[in-house]
Parts: sequence; C-alpha cells; structure tokens
Amino acid sequence: MTTYIDFRSDTVTKPTGAMLEAMMHAKIGDDVFGEDVSVNELERLAASMFGKEGALFCPSGTMTNQIAIKCHTQPGDEVICDADAHIYQYEGGGIAVNSGCSVKLLNGDRGRIDSTKVAEAIQPDDVHRARTSLVCVENTSNRGGGSCYDFEELKNIKQVCDENNLAFHIDGARLFNAIIAKNETPKQYGEIFDSISICLSKSLGCPVGSLLLGNTDFIKKARRVRKVFGGGMRQAGFMAAAGIYALQNNIQRLSKDHENAKAIAEVLNDASFVSLVLPVETNIIIFETKGITAKELVAKLKEKNILGYAIAPQRVRLVLHLDTTNEMVAKTIEVLKRLM
Ligand SMILES: *Cc1c(COP(=O)(O)O)cnc(C)c1O
Repeated sequence: MTTYIDFRSDTVTKPTGAMLEAMMHAKIGDDVFGEDVSVNELERLAASMFGKEGALFCPSGTMTNQIAIKCHTQPGDEVICDADAHIYQYEGGGIAVNSGCSVKLLNGDRGRIDSTKVAEAIQPDDVHRARTSLVCVENTSNRGGGSCYDFEELKNIKQVCDENNLAFHIDGARLFNAIIAKNETPKQYGEIFDSISICLSKSLGCPVGSLLLGNTDFIKKARRVRKVFGGGMRQAGFMAAAGIYALQNNIQRLSKDHENAKAIAEVLNDASFVSLVLPVETNIIIFETKGITAKELVAKLKEKNILGYAIAPQRVRLVLHLDTTNEMVAKTIEVLKRLM
C-alpha cells in the first residue's frame, strides 16, 4: 500500500496510541440521559477554558454551527457573514433549510469581515426588510488560507452587535490555530462571543467531534436542537475522551504545523508554476497556479505520493496537521523544488 503525504485536510488525522489509550479507558454512559461521565467532563473542561457556562458535544462542526444559527434566529431573519464562510459555502444550504433564514454576504479580506461592513449590512427596522439577528465570523478562515482576525476588529464587531441587538457567533473550527499564532487566550473569545464552535476533529487530531460553547440558557436550548437534528449520541464518551486528551495535549504543538506551512510556502513562492501564495498565518497554504491548472498540479503531486486539494480552477490548498512529520515536510520541499 502506498503511503501518501496527505495535505488534503487536517481532518485526515488518525488517533495516536496515547489518544487511543485514553479512549479505551473512558468512563462512559448514556449521554442523552446526561450520564456519560467523559462527555460531561469534556463539556466542563472546554467551557472552563473559554470562561463559558456550558458546552455541548456534537458529531460535527457543521452541526455546532447550524445549532447555533438555529438558536440565535427566527425563520425570516437574516445572518451576516463573509461570502467565503463555511456556514454559507459548505453546509449544504443549512441556514435556509434548518433555520429558514436569508444570508447577507460581505466581501471581506481573506475571509475576514470588519465592523464598518457589518454596520452597513444591518437591515433597517422596516416591514419590507428581513430582520438582521446574527453575525457570524470564522477564525481562522478556511477559504482565506488560514487567515486570523486581529482581535481588536472582533471587539469592534462585537460593539456593533451590542448596539444593534445582534447575536455574535464564531465558527472556530480552527480557533486554536489562531489562538496559538496570535498568542491569544480562549477566555478572550469567551468574553465577546455569545456562542463558539470548535472542532476537535481537525488540527487537534480527534477522530470525531465538535463543541458548542455558550451560557447556560443557550446550551439548554442548543441541547434540544441537537436532539431535533438527530445529534444526541449515547455512549459518546469514547469520543469525548479523545477530546479531553486533545485539549490537554495537542494545542501547543500547533505552532509546529504553522512553521512547517511557512517553510513549504517559501518554496512555493519561488516556484515557476505558482503565481501567488496567500500569506501563510497558520496551518493552511493556498496558492494560485500558473501555466497549469490546479487539478493538473494536484495530479502531478499525487504521482509523487503527495495529496493536495484543488479548491478552484487555479487554486490549490495544502493543510498541515498532527500526522505531518518533519520528514514529510522535507520530502515535500524536495519534490516541489524538482517540479520547478
Ligand atoms: C471543517 C469546518 C467546519 C465543520 O466541518 P465538519 O466537517 O462538519 O466538522 C466548520 N467550519 C470550518 C471553517 C471548517 O473548516
């Protein structure tokens, strides 16, 4: 069997021996009855890290986002987000299906919106208009190439939300990447967001799982919506144990993925087949191809046992993660240099 260097996504990681060990020894119960000791512990741990009152363990980040949107809105409301946002691009039209809301898309800077654009996008209080009720940001931004918000800008957006009575949600599928890259703390985020979604299944290396964080009333409502969405799990403690392990062991190491991503990007910057590399701030590299389509380049890399992802006709994405070793990075750099 060929072993690939897999940069398609940070979702491809497999649990390490130590994580599997933690999973095997998990204390479990029926979580729909609230009796799974490990799920309860994971939810308490995550909530306390972010200084939030509660948390809800869910099967996916799509579900945590969709539950949050459902909880913050009524049918007919409008949600403000960036045009590249995962909640709009990659959640199957869920905002319309699950919540009956319309979306106001903003053209941000590499996936990041700002307080001026948000303020302009809020609908006036007029029977002709949808009622704006929620602002969602994504940090890091996936389609923005792992770009991170300046925390001051998030505070500015929060102020606009407060002034206009809007809820503020963050899709933090890779929030820990941003926190490590910008030397921030989870509690900063807990202070300004009404709800926070984080993925355990991405750069933190868990096989499955995401968490939704918020205050007690919000989480109570979210738990009901999770049940309606079919996301109530039974002995989920095996997965929660992986989550606890990840929150305790896999956050600091993210800086290594960021350094390795920068090293690969540096080589791509000089490559003849690349016209542009988006600034690399975290574990994602997005670059534009020249003289070759993204699909053709991805196929060429695959011949060398390196997997990437064509996200647009001329755009390739590479994502670094827990299973990316320094040797794989060295090999990739060698292959890229020879491709020039
Ligand atoms: C991966 C991802 C999600 C959630 O994806 P799931 O596959 O449903 O867990 C949400 N937002 C962003 C930005 C993501 O990259």
